[in-house]
Amino acid sequence: MLIGVLALQGAFREHQQALAACGAESIQVRRPEELEKVNGLIIPGGESTTIGKLMMEYALIEPIKYRGEKGMPIFGTCAGMILLAKEIEGSEQPRLGLMNIKVRRNAYGRQVDSFEEDLNIPVLGDDPFRAVFIRAPYIMEVAPGVEVLARHEEKIVCAREGTFLAAAFHPELTSDGRLHMYFLNMVKKSIA
Ligand code: GLN
Repeated sequence: MLIGVLALQGAFREHQQALAACGAESIQVRRPEELEKVNGLIIPGGESTTIGKLMMEYALIEPIKYRGEKGMPIFGTCAGMILLAKEIEGSEQPRLGLMNIKVRRNAYGRQVDSFEEDLNIPVLGDDPFRAVFIRAPYIMEVAPGVEVLARHEEKIVCAREGTFLAAAFHPELTSDGRLHMYFLNMVKKSIA
């Protein structure tokens, strides 16, 4: 099993470290040929407009969409979640649009640039999950079939739709590997 981490901009190294801590092998993905080798893909946090633009320049949008539609699991964190969304409030920026969610960018306002919070994520067990939010988006709406995995003050901040997983926060910035393990299990199932 090999996991790809989209490595155009943002926190891709941290995701690779988190995957290594979970015992999973990963490679950086910048070209369609690299994408072909992987069984699952993580799209990191960073700046969604920049990553989207680079995905277009590197001709990655269509190949990633194709693999996603064919069942390859994709995990988007923060900017990565924005890029997975079908709808981005008030924006036409490039995206994959694979998940039936509507997101709001920079949703916590300028004053609260970043913060940490203990979340209850029932699919990960009873222990709270320390979540780091950095200029974070949240999910405004989900279509039927999208499973809400966590909320922060009513706002949806983690969700799953079939083989797609999205988190508004940065699970790669803490030592809690449970969300990465959860994704790795999705990948395992997809190739079983
Ligand atoms: N605000 C960023 C965006 O809209 C996301 C921030 C992040 O990924 N930490 O792309």
